[in-house]
Amino acid sequence: MSEHRAVGRVKEVTSLSNPLVKDIKALALKKFRDQQHAFMAEGLKLVIDALDLGWQIKTLIFAKAGIGNQAVEKVAARTVASGGDVLEVSEKVLSAITRRDNPQMVVGVFSQQFMALKDIRPKAGDVWVVLDRVRDPGNLGTIMRTVDAVGAKGIILIGDTTDPFAVETVRATMGSVFAVPVTKATSEQFLAWRKGFSGLVVGTHLKGTVDYRSVDFSGKPVVLMMGNEQQGLPDTLAESCDRLLRIPQAGRADSLNLAIATGVMLYEIRRDALKL
Ligand code: SAM
Repeated sequence: MSEHRAVGRVKEVTSLSNPLVKDIKALALKKFRDQQHAFMAEGLKLVIDALDLGWQIKTLIFAKAGIGNQAVEKVAARTVASGGDVLEVSEKVLSAITRRDNPQMVVGVFSQQFMALKDIRPKAGDVWVVLDRVRDPGNLGTIMRTVDAVGAKGIILIGDTTDPFAVETVRATMGSVFAVPVTKATSEQFLAWRKGFSGLVVGTHLKGTVDYRSVDFSGKPVVLMMGNEQQGLPDTLAESCDRLLRIPQAGRADSLNLAIATGVMLYEIRRDALKL
């Protein structure tokens, strides 16, 4: 590990009361993530992918077991080269940071990135997903992963939503948090942006009268709007849609889970674009 040790930025930490460790542990709470504009991602592959995609790493934390592992050492060197810190920690410290008994060997702390709504100018074939007040971190993370998988362009979060950089969300994205641009907007800001958008805006709604399989999504940019887990889409957002679509159901369930409904919709919208 001589390359980055020479720069003097590798610190060995074994105490849970170390202030650097306390700061990283605090990232479990939104208040501190917001204060530090940072979040945590676990796993060597994720950290490498994030660096390859140009995300700024603030701190790399790795277990002592990572010493001598070439890939870990390379990531440590990249972290130092980009101005970040590297912490070599005990298993106990890593477990405390990740709140897991068997933590991954590597954890990265990254700067948060949000895209500005004004910079979203979808072209033909682009698909953006609008999520109204999404509450569940698992749903948001799963949707980010699905958006990534189908090649949609990104997510616009409307209103009071769960944090895309919460630990549970990041875990559920399986790395897609680094590949999917996310924007935050109020409902008013979104509606103002929507006025300048000339593509197709489709909402999904339990009272929708149009079968989602009957729509031609080709040749234009598409905005797909999904409602809150408990309340569905409010009227203001539903009225801004060109079409309100429904996914037919049989059986006793009132509705589909939000992430499942988003997946079903995205596969239909991207049907022609996706080939084996
Ligand atoms: N009680 C809520 C309601 O009345 O809308 C249920 C919301 S559902 C769990 C969350 C979101 O998933 C909905 O707002 C809608 O966007 C989408 N969704 C779920 N099932 C759907 C279906 N069968 N057809 C259309 N959209 C659906």
